[in-house]
Amino acid sequence: MAAVVAAAAVRTRILQPTVKLFIDGKFVESKSDKWIDIHNPATNEVISRVPQATKAEMDAAVASCKRAFPAWADTSVLSRQQVMLRYQQLIKENLKEIAKLITLEQGKTLADAEGDVFRGLQVVEHACSVTSLMLGETMPSITKDMDLYSYRLPLGVCAGIAPFNFPAMIPLWMFPMAMVCGNTFLMKPSERVPGATMLLAKLLQDSGAPDGTLNIIHGQHEAVNFICDHPSIKAISFVGSNQAGEYIFERGSRHGKRVQANMGAKNHGVVMPDANKENTLNQLVGAAFGAAGQRCMALSTAIFVGEAKKWVPELVERAKNLRVNAGDQPGADLGPLITPQAKERVCHLIDSGTKEGASILLDGRKIKVKGYENGNFVGPTIISDVKPNMTCYKEEIFGPVLVVLETETLDEAIKIVNNNPYGNGTAIFTTSGATARKYSHLVDVGQVGVNVPIPVPLPMFSFTGSRSSFRGDTNFYGKQGIHFYTQLKTITSQWKEDDATLSSPSVA
Ligand code: NAD
Repeated sequence: MAAVVAAAAVRTRILQPTVKLFIDGKFVESKSDKWIDIHNPATNEVISRVPQATKAEMDAAVASCKRAFPAWADTSVLSRQQVMLRYQQLIKENLKEIAKLITLEQGKTLADAEGDVFRGLQVVEHACSVTSLMLGETMPSITKDMDLYSYRLPLGVCAGIAPFNFPAMIPLWMFPMAMVCGNTFLMKPSERVPGATMLLAKLLQDSGAPDGTLNIIHGQHEAVNFICDHPSIKAISFVGSNQAGEYIFERGSRHGKRVQANMGAKNHGVVMPDANKENTLNQLVGAAFGAAGQRCMALSTAIFVGEAKKWVPELVERAKNLRVNAGDQPGADLGPLITPQAKERVCHLIDSGTKEGASILLDGRKIKVKGYENGNFVGPTIISDVKPNMTCYKEEIFGPVLVVLETETLDEAIKIVNNNPYGNGTAIFTTSGATARKYSHLVDVGQVGVNVPIPVPLPMFSFTGSRSSFRGDTNFYGKQGIHFYTQLKTITSQWKEDDATLSSPSVA
């Protein structure tokens, strides 16, 4: 309980009126003359300001990471594990506080915000398994008296660049996994939602992470370029749009860094006529409109196969019942979009559907939320008669909009999904095991759900989006995450048995 109260105080101190940098274990005010306003998306009131860190501040942050690295890498793996064990406990105790902060800055409902923290917490819990995950390999007696073995060793200073839509989960995909392996970490949260990361940094410090092991800078392009170019940064984890991700991947790789980039999506749900209708429609509504569609795994496209198309009117009725409200209001099913520009973009993409011949079955563009007239709200929207050449199909909408296509066969549906450049996630709804198996095997998408609309793998697996949704070789979290943040060192050693005999004391 004391920890929760402390967190509330920290939250007030960190958020008002400016967001601090976290350098060398201290929350410090930036000396920058460039600041970005942070708005509550439900009201568009300014709630705080975040600095664009100066070059000197960013240099100080990397220098701190660099200084802390040798001792942290040398700290026993059991001690690093202990830090993460305390950290997962503190996150649990403060989960609701972090969630409130997310709702304030990002707009999602409190339930979604708690889910955001919870999914990040699961990665921290997974990081606690480091003693098994970081094991190397051995091969004894490869020839006489010779053994071969490998260690997994930390890389040095790693960095993370995060998006706005999961303010807790995505930073938690990054620094706990990197740090438990012995790396130090430079984090740049999204400039729109930095609060959760600041609170998470405080909790990590309270868990015993030494000063300098985590540093936090804020900013936009300059901070990103700084990270891509800095010679002391060995690896970059990025999550966000394709525009930024492709750029960061190219620029970071050019500077010799490892880069993993999780990017945009267009996730299809294929609905077969033999599906469990009740379950399928509920799943579609939750996965398309939950978190206002601002999820990289949102099921934003539905393909109804054959007779399943008869269910579309019922889907519309269910979507109509969703309650749009400020995220902290009781009963809210979805909150606002992140910015007025995001709302404008989403509305523009809906407009494009009408212009290009699609039908709007449910239109959320003009929604008014009582008491929150200035918020960035868009209500659930369903666009049908969509064809793959339409703009609303080709673009990632990232709002509460479901586009509906129809096909006569499963094969046609698979062709559509495989022709789409993105490969983040997909789901099939069916009661036939054979259909599910066929779909899972033929679809060229990295994460497949069978009657599971948002198949985000738990952290003992990895997040395996593919094709245009990912650049890099090694995925986030799971064993892959450990591999990303470690370097193998392989040792071939010969200790001659004869020498051992010679050096043994003679037995009388
Ligand atoms: P974004 O790309 O605008 O921002 C992400 C980060 O990159 C931020 O820290 C931002 O400061 C920086 N950035 C933004 N534009 C940049 C540019 N031109 N050059 C250099 N840096 C830049 O993304 P967002 O709007 O915050 O997040 C939404 C996007 O993230 C969606 O496309 C969504 O699908 C994707 N996303 C993907 C996953 C995944 O795991 N595949 C998860 C969450 C979000």
